[in-house]
Amino acid sequence: MIPVMKPWLGPEEAEAAAEAVASGWVAQGPRVAEFERAFARVIDCHEAIAVSSCTTALHLALVLAGVRAGDEVIVPSLSFIATANAARYVGATPVFADVDLRTQNLTAASIEGSLSPATRAVILVHQAGVPADVDAVRELASAREIAVIEDAACAIGSTYHGRMVAADATLATFSFHPRKLVTTGEGGMLTCSTAEHAQRARRLREHGMSMSAADRHLSDAPVIERYLETGYNYRMTDIQAAVGLVQLGRLDELVARRRSLAARYTEAMSDLEVVVASDPPYGTTNFQSYWMLLPPDAPIGRDELLAALHCDGISARRGIMAAHLEPAYTAEPAPRLPVTERLTKDSLILPLYHDLTHRDQDRVIASIRRHLGADRD
Ligand SMILES: *Cc1c(COP(=O)(O)O)cnc(C)c1O
Repeated sequence: MIPVMKPWLGPEEAEAAAEAVASGWVAQGPRVAEFERAFARVIDCHEAIAVSSCTTALHLALVLAGVRAGDEVIVPSLSFIATANAARYVGATPVFADVDLRTQNLTAASIEGSLSPATRAVILVHQAGVPADVDAVRELASAREIAVIEDAACAIGSTYHGRMVAADATLATFSFHPRKLVTTGEGGMLTCSTAEHAQRARRLREHGMSMSAADRHLSDAPVIERYLETGYNYRMTDIQAAVGLVQLGRLDELVARRRSLAARYTEAMSDLEVVVASDPPYGTTNFQSYWMLLPPDAPIGRDELLAALHCDGISARRGIMAAHLEPAYTAEPAPRLPVTERLTKDSLILPLYHDLTHRDQDRVIASIRRHLGADRD
């Protein structure tokens, strides 16, 4: 069976984790601090704060942006459910806006119709690694004092106007779940543009403490910490950070391999009536996922195609989910999201990972072409 995705982990990651364990310091400590510095250098952003997941990073980003109960947060429905859930964590209402068919991302135009006097923030997702056009959204938002939070869960190593995605974001979040390019098992990163946000985020992830447990431990004199506000336990462990440091060093190689395999898919499908993941004019994607949208008159439905691929020993997946169609959100008045509904119904994600061989990829290509009626048996 060809899997849809496989993390790229080797003996170096195992050794780094073992070293952290042997050091006796396994909770958030020096390796987390080093991982944060390395991450900020790679992204070229002001500060990076390691947390337990991208979901918890999104929660902190909304708290830092001052989003509260009664506020509205514009989000794409076409995203992993955590994007919409985060708005609810602070008591706000997620308002779903539609996405662009080629990038699967919100645009300034798609957001405009969802603005209201209660809009306090937009969570702009760089879906499947394809960068969203941040500048246009920022322009729309800044005129109305709306915060723009970038959900870059999938977009480590993608670029926007020649810089890493989220390099100059006010607030952005990344994921290190094994489904993403760089993994720490579970884990996330919040990046921000000011020292004030970074300081408060570090406090909030650690119970609102005035001084981190690691710093207290290192101090020569006894320190009694204070709890300055209601915080959370959103810390990353030093074991995870040790793995993350090794993985981060592989980022260029990971992205280069994904892009070269993606180019092979695109070339092989170029005569088919499908829309596939691609670079927008203003940036490049890391091809965290290679997705394909079937035409409305395809000879085979998406779900049938997934089943047929499965029979051929290929594990593909449905495309990105739509939160507004899930029971957790169906009680809200149904929004009009035609592009989102088409994408979630007719798109699929093909196997793509670092170790995917050309031979296995050719099997995937042949199977898809055959089921779409492009080639005879
Ligand atoms: C994966 C993902 C998340 C959640 O990341 P976790 O680290 O698993 O919490 C959030 N948003 C998007 C767009 C994602 O793809």
